[in-house]
Amino acid sequence: MSNESIFNESKKYMPGGVNSPVRAYRNMGMNPPVIKRGKGVIITDEDGKEYIDFVLAWGPLILGHCNDGVVKAIKETSENALAFGAPTKLELEMAQFLCETMPNVEMVRMVNSGTEATMSAIKLARGYTKRDKIIKFAGCYHGHFDGFLVEAGSGVLTEGIPGSLGVPEESVKNTLIGVYNDENQVRELFKNYGKEIAAVIIEPVAGNMGVVKAQEKFIKKLRMYCDRFGALLIFDEVMSGFRVSFTGAQSLFDVKPDLVTYAKIMGGGLPCGAYGGRKEVMEHLSPLGGVYQAGTMSGNPIVMAAGLATLRQLYDHPEYYNHIENVGKKLEDGINKIKEKYNFPVTINRAGGMFTIFFKDGEVTSYDQVKECDEERFKRYFTHMINSGFNIAPSQYEASFLSTTHNITHVFKFLKAFEEFIKKEVE
Ligand SMILES: *Cc1c(COP(=O)(O)O)cnc(C)c1O
Repeated sequence: MSNESIFNESKKYMPGGVNSPVRAYRNMGMNPPVIKRGKGVIITDEDGKEYIDFVLAWGPLILGHCNDGVVKAIKETSENALAFGAPTKLELEMAQFLCETMPNVEMVRMVNSGTEATMSAIKLARGYTKRDKIIKFAGCYHGHFDGFLVEAGSGVLTEGIPGSLGVPEESVKNTLIGVYNDENQVRELFKNYGKEIAAVIIEPVAGNMGVVKAQEKFIKKLRMYCDRFGALLIFDEVMSGFRVSFTGAQSLFDVKPDLVTYAKIMGGGLPCGAYGGRKEVMEHLSPLGGVYQAGTMSGNPIVMAAGLATLRQLYDHPEYYNHIENVGKKLEDGINKIKEKYNFPVTINRAGGMFTIFFKDGEVTSYDQVKECDEERFKRYFTHMINSGFNIAPSQYEASFLSTTHNITHVFKFLKAFEEFIKKEVE
């Protein structure tokens, strides 16, 4: 069956033909390729067409597709252990690994997705502080939990949905919207609601409005206000964790969060998530404390094995991050050269192996600036790239990714295709 026929059938049985909205490419005005196989940097669709992949399952596959060590771990574990719903040594190994290698993580709870990690962290923060309000930032995405679906970036932005239907006002009335990198606005929020705020949750390197880094002085202010008013600071590192560096965005800033959430890379390509932080806070979770959160599949042995196989390779090979940084820098420099050569309004933001090419002039440090991008141009760019054999994120508001399997040759090919696109645009 061809891409086209499979996807048309899929539309009959799954809303929009997909299990997660951005995959449908609706805003790009085309059907998505139906992917059959992935190895290293290359994915192949059902028509047999190959793409150099810059999506990597939306971030998780930092070692490339079907990394040998990860596949081996999955195979070996599945011989003896699919699921028990009981304690296992593998989950201990993962918990120990996270607590020993991640800063500010003394205890963890495993879950099955990034959404679960962030919503559980919020519940824990509310239970711990006995307060209800949270601050989230416009343009940050923390999963599809009701309380987060306001000004929620990427998918929600791309689909043009104002938040989401089906979210009662009750569920978002305790969500205060902060302005990313605007310390004065956050100060006002704390001035008005300080004693009611349970937590501030932030993507310290945002990826879901495209890549936008938080400024260090801004993050420091968040820490200061949280301390002053007794709120918890939550770093959502679902995307940035093990990505912008091994220890994530945490180590880019000299700031200690109270809770951190992980998913994506930590699952090695399988459904996974975790939240962790100070022991004294984590001990408020049931069965020790009064905050109830549970999961039949949480800590699943195969997921733990795949995750550990990924994280241990990354830990054992710090040079992998140097490689990704070098390849990323070449890409960034290349885009900037093309920008200058054609005097073209484009800006690339990059943090290690995650980047976004924004179609606008000047820096992009805030969500308001992100919104000034030329979406029609992005759509033409996307179409050009996918037709040229590059799988990139199908939205101006998403990050694209690099892996250890990307090299300079892939970057040169990418830049060549990018320049061809710019040439067409300036004609
Ligand atoms: C992807 C993502 C989530 C949601 O994770 P899922 O596994 O898709 O539920 C939450 N926060 C951030 C920062 C993300 O990038």
